Amino acid sequence: MATVFLKRKISPRVVNGHPWIFNNEVEKIDGEATGGDIVEVFTHDKRFVGKGYINPKSQILVRLLTRNRADEINEQYFFDKINECWSYRKKIGYTENCRLVFGEADSLPQLIIDKFNDYFVIQTLALGIDVWKPAIVNALNKIFSPKGIYERNDVPVRELEGLPQLKGFLSAPFDTEIVIKENGLKFHVDIENGQKTGYFLDQQDNRRAIQHIVKDAEVLGAFTYTGTFEVHAACYGAKSVLGLDISENAVLQARRNAELNGVQDNCHFEVANAFDVLKQWGKEGKQYDVVMLDPPAFTKSRETIQKAITGYKEINLRGMKLVKPGGFLVTSSCTNLVNPDLFLQIIDMAAKDARRKLRQVTFQKQAADHPIIRGMENTEYLKFLIVQVL
Ligand code: SAH
Repeated sequence: MATVFLKRKISPRVVNGHPWIFNNEVEKIDGEATGGDIVEVFTHDKRFVGKGYINPKSQILVRLLTRNRADEINEQYFFDKINECWSYRKKIGYTENCRLVFGEADSLPQLIIDKFNDYFVIQTLALGIDVWKPAIVNALNKIFSPKGIYERNDVPVRELEGLPQLKGFLSAPFDTEIVIKENGLKFHVDIENGQKTGYFLDQQDNRRAIQHIVKDAEVLGAFTYTGTFEVHAACYGAKSVLGLDISENAVLQARRNAELNGVQDNCHFEVANAFDVLKQWGKEGKQYDVVMLDPPAFTKSRETIQKAITGYKEINLRGMKLVKPGGFLVTSSCTNLVNPDLFLQIIDMAAKDARRKLRQVTFQKQAADHPIIRGMENTEYLKFLIVQVL
């Protein structure tokens, strides 16, 4: 096994628990290491740091799996880790549908596994975890006897690791259009062609948080995807609901979800660019009791963070203007590059420009099956805010 020595002046980040080791933090490598190999990592003065997988093609040279030198990284190791992830989800009450493995936050860097009842969707986003795919699939088979396992590795980030984008079955083929239950409602999930793994489980608790404010309300939702928030609103007693998304497929699926829950008469969806439509409706003086926004990340890199800030501010400003005095804005941001403080600052800037005062109802994060590791800021990514717009 090759040995990686860190530079003397590396940030305490790695020693204090962060699992990523960048190329420029490494002093030297003793021995041969090819992409995907397990290596041992030491400080410059030969103190053991951990074991992880290496990829010389990636800017992140090593991702640590364990800090325990006695751990052997083999098939059994992955079985035990995935079992641990399952025990944790059961302990905190996420069993039917949950993010079973949340990468770095579960000490399984770059591995994502979403559990949709009896079906599992996997992403292996780095070479060093991709090589363990058979072991991961075996573990799922042993622990869950699933009805199906599917790989959604059609993700551009894999190319940074020299991996191809691909998707397909990791079990016998099955019907990839499934129905899941959430908060007592039903939703179609398209495992093969939906966004990411097919469904955003991270908002499952937040969707429940709108229960009281939408009662008898006229609700507008933008960036609706498959209409999950909007269908919740309709089922929680909204007078009327309109959801907008730029993707025609998303809107078709959202309509099917409204039908599945019997709310198609007062829950409608339209294909629209939210930026254009919200601006136009603001000019026309349209007003809603509740406006809900759940836009995409707007940026994936720190260099273009300003773009994200501008996007979030613009859309929240437009959204606020459409809220009747005393109504509510429900707003989210799903990129870790915009931290919770910055997100609140953006909302405050938007309120100032809209000349509206805000009263905070609740400020939440992602659901607890997507654990946040203190000090590992990229595990804290989802912000979910409800404010009354005065
Ligand atoms: N609220 C959803 C997730 C939304 S994901 C849920 O809980 O499941 C973000 C959505 O924004 C995607 O469906 C994407 O198609 C849509 N989107 C991106 N840009 C848009 C735009 N300019 N106008 C409207 N929708 C947009």
